[in-house]
Amino acid sequence: MLCLWVSTSQSNSKTMLPLKSTSYTIKAMSDCLFCEIVAGNIPCKKVEETDTLLAFEDINPVAPIHVLVIPKTHIADVLGITDNHSSVIADMYSMVNKIAKDRGLDKMGFRLVVNNGSEAGQTVFHLHFHLLGGRPMAWPPG
Ligand code: AMP
Ligand code: ZN
Repeated sequence: MLCLWVSTSQSNSKTMLPLKSTSYTIKAMSDCLFCEIVAGNIPCKKVEETDTLLAFEDINPVAPIHVLVIPKTHIADVLGITDNHSSVIADMYSMVNKIAKDRGLDKMGFRLVVNNGSEAGQTVFHLHFHLLGGRPMAWPPG
């Protein structure tokens, strides 16, 4: 649970109060490519944006539709997800849902990929969904 130290007005003592809100500070990493895109320091072809998420076209698409959905806060990979991220992770799926419908992928199917770790092909260590569609997808993936 997320807690906050709060000073009470009657005394100088401090007490721990649980934070009911799901809001949290957006963390950025200065040497992270996707944090730089979120900050607007590197351009992207934006697809969708909310307070907590950004979706943009992959610069090197491997399918006719290849959109990346990222949290604005820096999470390195799946193993970096904590309970505090529950809301933003759920929002990532909602955004995929919207983009998939907007692009007509609800009718033809699509693939949602997360590469975790360099052995699995992760090259940018800021959590992201690859939303891939517009062509048949082979299984198993290479
Ligand atoms: P991964 O290899 O799973 O970490 O995916 C990283 C993805 O980011 C790759 O598909 C890259 O093509 C994509 N990518 C890298 N740089 C950019 C950029 N500046 N704008 C958009 N996509 C990028
Ligand atoms: Zn980052």
